[in-house]
Amino acid sequence: MSSESRTNTEPTAHEECTSCGTTLGERRLALQSYPEAEAGSISGLSAGGLLYCPDCGSEPVELLDSWNGHDQPPVDADRSIAAGYRESAEQCSFCADDLDSEPVVGIELYRRPGEELPAYANFTLCGDCRSVFEEFLANVSAQQ
Ligand SMILES: [Zn+2]
Ligand SMILES: [Zn+2]
Repeated sequence: MSSESRTNTEPTAHEECTSCGTTLGERRLALQSYPEAEAGSISGLSAGGLLYCPDCGSEPVELLDSWNGHDQPPVDADRSIAAGYRESAEQCSFCADDLDSEPVVGIELYRRPGEELPAYANFTLCGDCRSVFEEFLANVSAQQ
């Protein structure tokens, strides 16, 4: 009898592109957001994040490619993930403004290797850029 706990998660059956509904294969772009409490969740990035097929992901990838990523945020029980992002970043990943007291939102990117972006990256956005990003994501969905 094995007491080994199962650490691998069951693959979600038939994961689909958030935007066009195509069943996803190996190549995909995943975006997850971690807003500070006051900021609320990013519209369009709320329910478990976004998954894009290579076609739908090309525009977000282009945008994210111009952002300045930072190190993986510290994660521990004493603070929220968003607070970890704030600690990792001094400037907005998009506009490079200093992040002061306004709520920030952490963005986590996961991408299968073999493309131009790193497989994994972290960004932190200021309040203004968060709004711009929300609009951008809405447009990506609307095009399909
Ligand atoms: Zn798609
Ligand atoms: Zn900004």
